Amino acid sequence: MSSPDIGEAEKLAVRAAMDSGWIAPLGPDVDGFEQDLAARVGVAHGVALSTGTAALHLGLLGLDIGPGDHVLTSSMTFAATANAIRYTGAKPVFVDSELASGNIDVELLQEAIETLEAEGTPAKAIVPVDLLGKTVDYTAVEAIAARHGLLVLADAAESLGATHRGRAAGSFGNASVVSFNGNKIMTTSGGGMLLTNDEILAQRTRYLATQARQPVAHYEHVDIGFNYRLSNLLAALGRAQLLRLDEMIAKRRALRLHYSEKFARVAGVSIFGGSAAEDNCWLTGIIVDETRAGFSPTELQTYLAAHNIESRPLWKPMHLQPVFAMERAFTNGNAQALFETGLTLPSGSALEEPQIRRVTGRIEEFLSNLR
Ligand SMILES: *Cc1c(COP(=O)(O)O)cnc(C)c1O
Repeated sequence: MSSPDIGEAEKLAVRAAMDSGWIAPLGPDVDGFEQDLAARVGVAHGVALSTGTAALHLGLLGLDIGPGDHVLTSSMTFAATANAIRYTGAKPVFVDSELASGNIDVELLQEAIETLEAEGTPAKAIVPVDLLGKTVDYTAVEAIAARHGLLVLADAAESLGATHRGRAAGSFGNASVVSFNGNKIMTTSGGGMLLTNDEILAQRTRYLATQARQPVAHYEHVDIGFNYRLSNLLAALGRAQLLRLDEMIAKRRALRLHYSEKFARVAGVSIFGGSAAEDNCWLTGIIVDETRAGFSPTELQTYLAAHNIESRPLWKPMHLQPVFAMERAFTNGNAQALFETGLTLPSGSALEEPQIRRVTGRIEEFLSNLR
């Protein structure tokens, strides 16, 4: 669905990092990668970390989120977002989606904030999530956060390269988090970064990520630390990938247009997420209205799987996950509806023409078998 897209330049970059001797584990490519990505996104600081999840965890700790705090987040997300909130001892409060994008519903968010305030347990932070490469309405979310004095840690794990009103994903909130997991828009095999204009937060994150060592020779500790830094070899891979980010996004966008054309005449099927103009087109999904289409997303998924083609439902909302069943949720039914009607299709930039033809050929075959 979204496999790593690694070329010769990436292999040369990792080889060069290895030859440089900077292996154990920090080095100049880590610093360079942080500077490159911070510049690309338009923020002052980047802190390269071992995963996006680690970046969420340290971002929350850096914003002083801890036991008993309420943190609002999107129900329609990958579990990592909610898990990171729980790592800190805080309580996730899930907010449902707007139907068009699947991103957090800002009216419901407002309602959730006011309800928690009225109950005397105001939320401390919002972790909005950019679903499948489309940014949330940060204009609205930042305004709400400012009005209610809430911190914002943006989960931009899926949206690197996307923009909101011309501003880059990864530049919003008090800090943003991106992921370089193998299935994301660009990869370091595994990795993530915290991006922020807040120098103190960047320093605190770097400190916590390197075992919270005081700057003395004998390993003095006054805080519980973590071992969350990205290695120099992987940072070298990331720098080479970043040079190809726009090219990889262009490929994914072309694939989305291709799917749009293929499904344009299919009744009951629409491309998820609307306009792709500011989207990084990380994953392309379809929404299937079963009664009009005459098939369910599961039937198409099963058919494709039988032909060795991966497709998946959208994220199962967190408020429907057994592990988060006891957490507070403000729902409107949209995330559940998207989960039940959505299917993401092969979207990776590494897909070659013959593979794309094979995928769309099988989809056409499935659709013609219905008639
Ligand atoms: C991938 C992802 C993460 C976690 O990133 P890792 O690098 O895999 O730890 C967090 N949030 C969202 C929304 C993601 O899609």
